[in-house]
Amino acid sequence: MSDAAPKPVNLPEDQDAYGVLTPLPLPSLDYLLAAEDAPTRGLAVMVDVGGRKRIGIVWGKPAGIEARKLKKANALCGRPSLPLDLCDFIDWLAAYTLAPPGLVLAMALRNPEALNPPKPRLAYAIGSAEQKPTKARARVLAVAADGLARTAVDLAAEAGVGGSVVKGLIQSGGLKTVCLPEFPPQPVPDPDFAETVLNPEQAIAAASILADVKAQAFKVSLLDGITGSGKTETYFEAVAEALRGGRQALILLPEIALTVQFLDRFAARFGARPAEWHSELSARERRRIWRAVGTGEVKAVVGARSALFLPFEKLGLIVVDEEHEQAYKQEEGVIYHARDMAVIRGKIASCPVILASATPSLESFVNAESGRYAHLKLTQRHGVAELPKVELIDLRKGHGDPGTYLSPPLRDALKNTLAAGEQAMLFLNRRGFAPLTLCESCGHKFTCRHCSAWLVEHRKRGTLVCHHCGFEMKIPDACPTCGEKHLIACGPGVERIAEEFQILFPEVRAKIASSDTLDGPNAMQTAIRAMQKREIDVLIGTQVIAKGHHFPHLTLVGVIDGDLGGSDGDPRARERTFQLLHQVSGRAGRAEHPGTVLIQTRNPADAVMQALVKQDRDAFYRQEMMYREKAGAPPFGRLAAIILSGLKSDEVRETGRVLARTAPNVRGVKVWGPAPAFYALLRGLARERLLVQADKSVNIQAYLHAWLNKVKLSRSVRLTVDVDPVSFF
Ligand code: ADP
Ligand code: ZN
Repeated sequence: MSDAAPKPVNLPEDQDAYGVLTPLPLPSLDYLLAAEDAPTRGLAVMVDVGGRKRIGIVWGKPAGIEARKLKKANALCGRPSLPLDLCDFIDWLAAYTLAPPGLVLAMALRNPEALNPPKPRLAYAIGSAEQKPTKARARVLAVAADGLARTAVDLAAEAGVGGSVVKGLIQSGGLKTVCLPEFPPQPVPDPDFAETVLNPEQAIAAASILADVKAQAFKVSLLDGITGSGKTETYFEAVAEALRGGRQALILLPEIALTVQFLDRFAARFGARPAEWHSELSARERRRIWRAVGTGEVKAVVGARSALFLPFEKLGLIVVDEEHEQAYKQEEGVIYHARDMAVIRGKIASCPVILASATPSLESFVNAESGRYAHLKLTQRHGVAELPKVELIDLRKGHGDPGTYLSPPLRDALKNTLAAGEQAMLFLNRRGFAPLTLCESCGHKFTCRHCSAWLVEHRKRGTLVCHHCGFEMKIPDACPTCGEKHLIACGPGVERIAEEFQILFPEVRAKIASSDTLDGPNAMQTAIRAMQKREIDVLIGTQVIAKGHHFPHLTLVGVIDGDLGGSDGDPRARERTFQLLHQVSGRAGRAEHPGTVLIQTRNPADAVMQALVKQDRDAFYRQEMMYREKAGAPPFGRLAAIILSGLKSDEVRETGRVLARTAPNVRGVKVWGPAPAFYALLRGLARERLLVQADKSVNIQAYLHAWLNKVKLSRSVRLTVDVDPVSFF
C-alpha cells in the first residue's frame, strides 16, 4: 500500500475503490466497494476476474485507474474476513520469497468454502403429543421419548421404519425441528489437567518462556536440549500459560507421521486433543478447523507448515519442534522455510516463538550464541536414562565379505543384544533394495527416462523405480543395450539390509520401515507400532525411524553407512549428516537400559564422526561456524538460487546465459552459473541453476527484483526463485 497511489477519479458518492487480491498469480486488482463496507483490509468479497466469479480479499488502496471503469466487489454473507496480522504476514512472505502475493494468499484460502457461514444440521426431537399414532409412528416416538435430537435418517433407522413415517410426524407436529451446529464443539484443553513437575533445569527454561508468554511480546527462544531431556514437557508449560491467558497456541511438527503420536501425548497433558492441521484432512475437517481457529474456539493447533496460514483469532505462542528439519522447507509452489516464517508470524502477531531441537540448525545456533535468541539449554536426560555410547566401525579394515553390508562387529553386537532380550535398529537412509542396477557385460546403467537419476530396484515388487517422478518398469532379464543377462544390483537399500539380516538371523522378527508409499502408506506406522509393542525385535529403516519415536527396550542402533551425505556445493551437508546420525543415535537407550550406537564408516577421522563419538556437538558447530564464515555461506552470507526449467534444454541453457550476462554488478554480490542442475533432467524438464551469493548487508530481494524484471523470458522456460535454498539438486 503506497501512499503515493493516485486517487481514482469519478468515484460515486456511496462507493470506494480498493485493491482486491485473489488467490491467483496476479497483483491486486481494483474494484468498487459500497462505502458502508469499509473499513476493509481483510474483508472477503466476491469479484469477477476475467469473467469468472472468485473470492478475493480486500487488500488495500487501489492502483488508481478511472473509477467508472471498475467492477463491483460484494462482501460475502456474514462479512467474513481474514485477520489483519495474517494479511500482513502474507505480504511479508510474498516480498521475502518474491512469490506473487496472490499465490501466498492461496495458501491461506485453500478452502474458500470455510468463509461461508456454517450450515446448520436439521434434527428432530419429540414434539406435541400424537392422538392415536399408528404402530410405525409409535415406534419413532418411543425412540424420541428420551428427548434427544436426532437426524431424520437416524430416527428412521433406530425405529426401523421408512423415512416417510418420520416425515409424517414432522408435518403433524409430533416431532419438532431443532437446529444443531454443523460440527460438534471442539473439546477444550485444560492447562491444569495433568501438571508435570519439572526438574530444576527444565524449570529454569520454562520460567523464561512463561515470562515471555505472559508479556505477550515477540521473542524467540532456542530450546536446545539433548534427546529425552524433556523439551516437549517444557514447552507444554508455555502452551499451558498461553491457554490460561485465553490465547491460542500453534505447534509445528515437521511430519504428519509424528503428529499422530503427538495428539495422544498432548491429550495426556491437557485432557483433550488439539486440532490437527495437515494435508491429509478431509475438506470437511479443514473447513471445521479453519473456522474454529478463526473464531478462537480452537485453542491449540498441531500441524504441518501450512498451519502458519490459519486465521488465528488470538495467537499467543508458536512452537517449532525439531526446528532443524529440512521438511520445514516447502520446495514446490511458493518456496518458503516454515521455521523462518514462524518467527515472522510471531513477530507480526507479537507473540513468543520457541524453536526446539537437540541438534539446532546452525542458523538458530548462531542466533542463540549471539544473543538474538534466548538460549535455553537442557543438558540431562530426564530420569535415569543415559546418553548412548557411540563407536565407529572402520570399514576400510576389510570387515566382512564383499557384497555384504553388516560387518562382523555389528553382527556380534546384534547377536548379544537379541540374546539379552533387547531390541535393535538398523538405519540406512536409502529406500528399496539397491540404488543402481548395472549390466556387468557392457556397463549399461538403468536410468530414468524423465530424470537424470538411477532407477532404484524394489525387489519385493520386482520393479525398478524412479524416486523423483515415480516412473516404474519391471526388472528386465537382459540388458537393453547388449542383450546379456548379467545384471547386478549395486549397493544397498533397506530391503537388501533386511534380506541380509534375515539370512544371518532367520528366527528373529524384523520389519522394514521407510516412507515408501510403494509399500502402502500405513506400512511404516504398522512397523513402528509393532516395535513399540515388542511384536518385532529389529526395525530396519530409513530416516523415518530416526525421528521422535520412543522405544524403551531398544539398546542397539546400527548405522549401515555413516558417510552417506548431501550433494556437492551444499553448505549444510555436514551439518545435516551430523543431525541425522545424532538423531538416530538418540533412539538407543531411552529407558533404564544403556544404549550403544555402532556407525560403519570409511572416514572415521572425519569431524562429523568424531563429534558423534566424543559427543561434542558444540565443538563441531563452532568448527562449522568458522568454515561457513570464511566461505560467506549462510548464516554469514545470503544465498538465492534461480532454477530455470523447460522442455528444450538448449533454450533453458540459453536463457541461463542471458540471465548471467544481465546480472547487475553490485558490490558484495556474486552470481555463479548457469550450470546444469544436479538433476539436469527432472520429470521430463531440463534444468539449469544460477546461485546468487551476497553479503549479509545486501538486500538480496531488491537485487533480484532489479535483475529479473529486466529480463524477458520465453513462455516455455520457467524461472523459479529459491531464497535461502536448502536443497542444491
Ligand atoms: P524431548 O522432547 O527432549 O526428547 P521429552 O519431553 O519427550 O524429551 O521427554 C522424554 C521422556 O521423559 C518422556 O517420556 C517424558 O514424559 C519424560 N519426562 C521428561 N521430563 C519429565 C518430567 N519433568 N516429569 C516426568 N516425566 C518427564
Ligand atoms: Zn524419473
